[in-house]
Amino acid sequence: MEKKNIDWGNIGFGYIKTDERYVSTYKDGKWDEGGLTQDSMITMSECACVLQYAQTIFEGLKAYTTEDGRIVTFRPDLNAERLNQSAKRMEMPELPTEKFLESIREVVSANAAYVPPYGTGATLYLRPFMFGINPVIGVKPATEFQYRVFATPVGPYFKGGIKPLTIRVTDFDRAAPNGTGHIKAGLNYAMSLHAIVDAHNQGYDENMYLDARTRTKVEETGGANFIFVTKDGKIVTPKSDSILPSITRRSLMYVAEKYLGLETETREVYLDELKDMAECGLCGTAAVISPVGKIVNHDDEICFPSGMDEMGPVTKKLYDTLTGIQMGRIEAPEGWIFEIK
Ligand SMILES: *Cc1c(COP(=O)(O)O)cnc(C)c1O
Repeated sequence: MEKKNIDWGNIGFGYIKTDERYVSTYKDGKWDEGGLTQDSMITMSECACVLQYAQTIFEGLKAYTTEDGRIVTFRPDLNAERLNQSAKRMEMPELPTEKFLESIREVVSANAAYVPPYGTGATLYLRPFMFGINPVIGVKPATEFQYRVFATPVGPYFKGGIKPLTIRVTDFDRAAPNGTGHIKAGLNYAMSLHAIVDAHNQGYDENMYLDARTRTKVEETGGANFIFVTKDGKIVTPKSDSILPSITRRSLMYVAEKYLGLETETREVYLDELKDMAECGLCGTAAVISPVGKIVNHDDEICFPSGMDEMGPVTKKLYDTLTGIQMGRIEAPEGWIFEIK
């Protein structure tokens, strides 16, 4: 198969239309068979539930080429599971895991020419999503839904080297207690847009959100979970009902324990403790781990000993091990690598 003529190292993170996408419709209480289409446009009623009341959820994962030339995705069964947790909370129909995996397989296979070659650092980003499409004006869930998956190639996350981030503790809240912070719903992102634009205007890369109830505990950023390394080498990640359960973070915690023999803790992490941490990183599909060099809390600055020039040593080990597993250089735990072809 001939690859597309794309400058893989320089495409950045933007939407590039690919050839085929998957679509399935839920109507009269059931999913239709579903399949590929070349039509990237969606026509719907002006009164569609997604447009009026934001009934929409999504997932994000990537397909890439391993060292030995296979095209694979990483733990897509966990994306299927999480999509269904989001669906339940949003009064949307669940999608059978098999159907989810089939949709991923079809979209990646049909767009194999867009899967970047091994070693470029680029990947084919996959965006499964589901939304309520029939007209709804009284506030209630839709009864008809579309599930779709499209693919778009994205460039290497750390172009020109890994630079630690500067983040700020924001006064905005991301998720209410007993709200929707733990599901991957568009609504969590809608309300984060103002906060991130404001952060960027003030010169920060990201927002650190605190727990909305007490504003003393660390939650996450708008789109990534935190991990910390303590001064005695323990890996700590915040525990909260309003954090989105990152698949990358869960995989890193496993790798820390089972591959690197590190002690791990999932517990409440207080803002007050951050000054005692040795390293800090943001975990998500896009970057795996982005190191954080500095956290600014109003007049207070926390500078991690790992500095602003490179990843901390433990973060680096975690990063190298997980990316090694993903790329097929290190043996993966059973079921982590889902082979497309
Ligand atoms: C998607 C997402 C993450 C990262 O999850 P991964 O499964 O690791 O990609 C973290 N936080 C939020 C709020 C997210 O939406």
